[in-house]
Amino acid sequence: MAATPENPAASAPRRKVSRHRGEGQWAVGHFTPLNGNEQFKKDDDGLNVRTRIETIYSKRGFDSIDPNDLRGRMRWWGLYTQRKPGIDGGKTAILEPEELDDRYFMLRVRVDGGALTTRQLRVIGEISQEFARGTADITDRQNVQYHWIRIEDVPEIWDRLESVGLSTVTACGDTPRVMIGSPVAGIAEDEIIDATPALEEMKRRVLNNKAYSNLPRKFKTAISGSPLLDVVHEINDVAFVGVRHPEHGPGFDVWVGGGLSTNPKLGVRLGAWVPIDEVPDVYEGVISIFRDYGYRRLRNRARLKFLVADWGAEKFRQVLEDEYLGGRKLIDGPAPEQPVQQWRDHIGVHRQKDGRFYVGFAPRVGRVDGATLTKVADLAEAHGSGRVRTTVEQKMIILDVAEDKVDSLVEGLEALDLTARPSSFRRGTMACTGIEFCKLAIVETKQRGSQLIDELERRLPDFDEPITINLNGCPNACARIQVADIGLKGQLVLNDQGEQVEGYQVHLGGALGLEPGFGRKVRGLKVTSEELPDYIERVLKRFQAEREDGER
Ligand code: SF4
Repeated sequence: MAATPENPAASAPRRKVSRHRGEGQWAVGHFTPLNGNEQFKKDDDGLNVRTRIETIYSKRGFDSIDPNDLRGRMRWWGLYTQRKPGIDGGKTAILEPEELDDRYFMLRVRVDGGALTTRQLRVIGEISQEFARGTADITDRQNVQYHWIRIEDVPEIWDRLESVGLSTVTACGDTPRVMIGSPVAGIAEDEIIDATPALEEMKRRVLNNKAYSNLPRKFKTAISGSPLLDVVHEINDVAFVGVRHPEHGPGFDVWVGGGLSTNPKLGVRLGAWVPIDEVPDVYEGVISIFRDYGYRRLRNRARLKFLVADWGAEKFRQVLEDEYLGGRKLIDGPAPEQPVQQWRDHIGVHRQKDGRFYVGFAPRVGRVDGATLTKVADLAEAHGSGRVRTTVEQKMIILDVAEDKVDSLVEGLEALDLTARPSSFRRGTMACTGIEFCKLAIVETKQRGSQLIDELERRLPDFDEPITINLNGCPNACARIQVADIGLKGQLVLNDQGEQVEGYQVHLGGALGLEPGFGRKVRGLKVTSEELPDYIERVLKRFQAEREDGER
């Protein structure tokens, strides 16, 4: 049993209690809440808010919600208040949180592994149309996000989601968030290993489990047995990446401590090879280390990446083996091989291992709607077996398509403006939620990203290089700007007339996969939203004209 503030004596790792305030690590006896978030988590487990939503808040309305639930514990069930419409980005940092709060919510539905059936997709589409004014964005962590949700409707939405096996549990909050998985797990011809059984067991062990519902901060998980490295494993708190061990065969290489936002860090390898049936144990070990040793004093130091940076991979592995795996030594293993493809998104038509095909297609910057998702379900049923996937690039895939139905499916998708043959710009552009709904946003992103795609397609019709252009509405990293070829961080900038307008700080040359690294912040280089197409056109033309052989 784990140590908790309520039951510190139950500590698995028995350490001498430090007299210093330290970093707020439970494992060394620092149970006194050191900030407001730790206090409200200690006062009541976030999972318990569900009962209050069902029995009080949904019946008595928005004004009945306890502020610690409204801006804290409701996240444990995927709910955030959305931004009040009409408040410009200049006010984001000035106003109090309650002044930014709308009376409507964003609701995040977790889609672990990006795996959906058409039955589930239809329910997602129906909820979107009945309760969310048609909204249903595909996020870059394979989730679906609604907006305009009323607290009164939440229990009914949960009933409908749960009737088809979907959930919003710990979709947000200081919890195990959605587990990213390869969207072509079990079907890709080139797969090293199908991670699905491990992912299912990991979910079974930690979701809705109070042993893991009070973590220092969010905990991001990825697992994939695809040689394409298709789950952005480098930027998750823990990741399992498919590799072939020269003696033991297919299994997983373990990575820990990746994360973006402020102080971005790439994950580090533990150098350990884990067979699939031991992955859940190692997963529970890593998440438990985070719970017990993670820093809780300062919110901006509370992600696992800071502990990993301080300990290093060797000590982390040692603690994992000694204290959480009962002294069992992990087997040393190889690193993943670099994939030959630069696109890792499964867009286009690809043969499956069973001879059928999967078709990956591109909405614009993840923006779809309930009506469109229902039509995607129709297409998936008419052409495939009813299996659909979401990807970490805000894209989607329909599985199990017979060869003679591929063309008709591709045409049907085109008619919905969901192309399986996207330009590099449509394919490689992502945008976070931005000022339309996000309380932290300074600038608009989704619409801007969509317009940018149109403009670049018009100006550079022959550009067919892999390129990633990621737009964030604020200095956070929801759209992964630090690892994009062109990362755009939303902020207010001065235009030629000296007026403050929406714009972006530019980061260039970030990447994952082939040569991972963070983009360089180009000192002083800020562009207004209006200048954005001109600026990117110039960068890309210059890249084409001056690049060396093979340069990305
Ligand atoms: Fe909101 Fe900022 Fe995240 Fe965009 S990057 S969704 S603006 S917090």
